[in-house]
Amino acid sequence: MLQATMVEPGRIVFQDVPKPEPGRGQVVIEVKACGVCGSDVHVWRGEHPFTSYPIIQGHEFSGVVESVGEGVEGITPGDKVTVEPSIVCGRCYPCRHGRYNICYNLKVMGFQTDGCHREFFAVPADRVVPVPEDMSFEAAAMVEPSAVALHAVGRADMHEGAKVVVLGAGPIGILTMQAAKALGASEVMITDIVDFKLEVARRLGADHVVNARREDVVGAIEETFGEDRADLMFECVGAEETLETAVQGARKGSRIVVVGVIGGRPGVSIGLLQDRELEMVGSLMYMRHDFLKAVELISSGKLTPTELITSRYKFQDLPDAYREAAERGERNLKVMVEF
Ligand SMILES: [Zn+2]
Ligand SMILES: [Zn+2]
Repeated sequence: MLQATMVEPGRIVFQDVPKPEPGRGQVVIEVKACGVCGSDVHVWRGEHPFTSYPIIQGHEFSGVVESVGEGVEGITPGDKVTVEPSIVCGRCYPCRHGRYNICYNLKVMGFQTDGCHREFFAVPADRVVPVPEDMSFEAAAMVEPSAVALHAVGRADMHEGAKVVVLGAGPIGILTMQAAKALGASEVMITDIVDFKLEVARRLGADHVVNARREDVVGAIEETFGEDRADLMFECVGAEETLETAVQGARKGSRIVVVGVIGGRPGVSIGLLQDRELEMVGSLMYMRHDFLKAVELISSGKLTPTELITSRYKFQDLPDAYREAAERGERNLKVMVEF
């Protein structure tokens, strides 16, 4: 079978290797679709702080169960599945208290342990998440980023009818907007600096879109929601500017969920947290219930992640898929790789 290893930043080498056999407690999956995400691009560029080379990448994927190892129950060859790509220790404080997404020894497939960029992939059975037979492989590969959005909304402790602002209309921002609406938000505003992304966001359900390059976001929040502003802010960019907008634009006493991955040490008016009694909470990855909820909401059409796919590549053309994702063209949202 074919396997793609990133041997150094920007260089992927294909190898013909033997197909894996499932070990005890393992499931071998024939990989069918895999998305390329922002973190993958960081690895491609050599800018990911927690990944070393060589590494087989790929963590948002779907496929068909090919074989199961000894001791595996409830999963049969032929099942259509996706996979929670996190390997956790089960022993540390967060693991013992039901928050394994922030495990002290967290390893993510494609970053600290090998991922799915190969035709057949052996994974622990307890990471496998079944999807309905009528869900497409692309949609099933998008369960992972959808689960990121659902976890973020969970961290928000959102109430029914909430008014919400999402900063950033990349895939995670748009999915967070859809997830918030699916879970009861009454009105969502989304911002970005690229019109194409805002158009997609509007088509997929955003009530208000704001181009932050042309409009002052805090002003737009007051104009749209009135002086009471919004109930919740989601920062889905991970940049100094949007973090500052979040603390400046949040209603006093409200919550900001930071979903974007932040590099360095941004200069943000953190004093406003104290002065305005703001709450700022982080959101990392997801847990199994977020995956299951994502499967349910995609099945019912409340989350439409495949609408975010802007280009498709064959597995053999994986380097081209990375190149396109790394260019971050104005009309690029999600690059999907098909096997
Ligand atoms: Zn990802
Ligand atoms: Zn742990």
